[in-house]
Amino acid sequence: MTEQIIGPGHVAHSTSGISFRALRSRLNCLNIRVRAESDMICELCQSYILEDSRFCPKCGVMQPLPAGFAESERKILPAVILCGTFGWLGAHRYYTGKIGTGILQTLTFGGFGIWAIVDFIRLTVGSFTDADGRKITEWV
Ligand SMILES: [Zn+2]
Repeated sequence: MTEQIIGPGHVAHSTSGISFRALRSRLNCLNIRVRAESDMICELCQSYILEDSRFCPKCGVMQPLPAGFAESERKILPAVILCGTFGWLGAHRYYTGKIGTGILQTLTFGGFGIWAIVDFIRLTVGSFTDADGRKITEWV
């Protein structure tokens, strides 16, 4: 098995009417690996992985989600408004999908206010995470 690694620059000239991605998948069939700038590098074995792969083909290690998927689709502004108005009921936690701790906040009046205030600060600085552990970074 021969493996040849070529950069995106080599392919760019020969492509007309075919996407880089499509060409790359064709070349993959021919056992020629094409390296793109957007490709990920395996955390463990440092080999190149296609951007949409979840597992490294060489060592099988699960890869972190690419940028864009790692961030929550929930927005800061509605969460902050909810936290500022009904934070003592844990409304912002229901909004971000954290139902369990939301109920807990409802029962404790937002952790007697303190927990809700901590959440409010964490929301405004963009360190608050949703139920899937993804950071909420977009305001609107
Ligand atoms: Zn690997």
